[in-house]
Amino acid sequence: VLPILLHTFLYRKVTPTNLPTFLLVGPSGSGKTAFTTLTERNTVTQTHTSTAPLTVEALLPSPHVPASSHYRSAGDPAYERSRRFLLLDTPGHGKLRHFATAQLANPAHVKGIIFVVDAAAIAEEAGLNEAASYLHDVLLSLQKRYTESKTSKGPKEIPVLVAANKMDLFTALPASLVKVQLEKAISEVRNSRAKALRDAGAALSGGEDEVDEEKEWLGEGGEGAFEFEQMREIGTNVGVLGGNVVSGKEGGDVNAWWAWVGEQL
Ligand code: GDP
Repeated sequence: VLPILLHTFLYRKVTPTNLPTFLLVGPSGSGKTAFTTLTERNTVTQTHTSTAPLTVEALLPSPHVPASSHYRSAGDPAYERSRRFLLLDTPGHGKLRHFATAQLANPAHVKGIIFVVDAAAIAEEAGLNEAASYLHDVLLSLQKRYTESKTSKGPKEIPVLVAANKMDLFTALPASLVKVQLEKAISEVRNSRAKALRDAGAALSGGEDEVDEEKEWLGEGGEGAFEFEQMREIGTNVGVLGGNVVSGKEGGDVNAWWAWVGEQL
């Protein structure tokens, strides 16, 4: 009996839905599809779901090692298993926010969120504002998930990687500046959303339908600017790392992103 049990344990089929999942979000044109295609090189299987997003089952490419397997050796079935993950690519715009929010409402297997931005588009006001307002919404969903949690410990941590893509373009801002610019722009989004809520509240005057402003305010209260660091309090670590998915003949370099994925596995 023991060998059979062992066999079942070691070779038990892990259904894809149980695999650690990373949500790929971000403005249209930032490189999500390109990144999914790159990930497919390490693909196990590929499925198209009817709900539009594309799911790719992939392996963390070598030499990156899943954090949970630092002490295991290659070839160990547990090691191989720990390299597997799902990447959920969301369609470019509009509805994608609902999709991402729906995923966040039930993130049993969500290990992290990869928010892809075009680091050259960020250099311009329109691109910056679009990315900032979308990222603001993603972070606010995570914050609400935390503050509305019924357990004393709070929900499982979901880290966010801001993948600053297209570093091969000479107009691209370096990752450190992408971070600063996004923080500034998110501060503005936060202020204008709060003002809109106050105006709507004043118009209602009855008070019954009043929205809880505090709940809609991302990060720390007060006059200070928004910083990603403030998200630590709600269990979300935000990292900004540069990369480029495609460039010239040699292909891209997204090693910093893979390293980040490995830390979550
Ligand atoms: P999505 O809308 O986020 O899925 O964006 P796509 O993956 O379709 O990429 C939009 C465009 O950006 C495509 O023309 C890509 O070839 C291009 N692109 C993606 N990654 C890079 C990159 O690292 N560098 C450059 N220069 N272009 C890129």
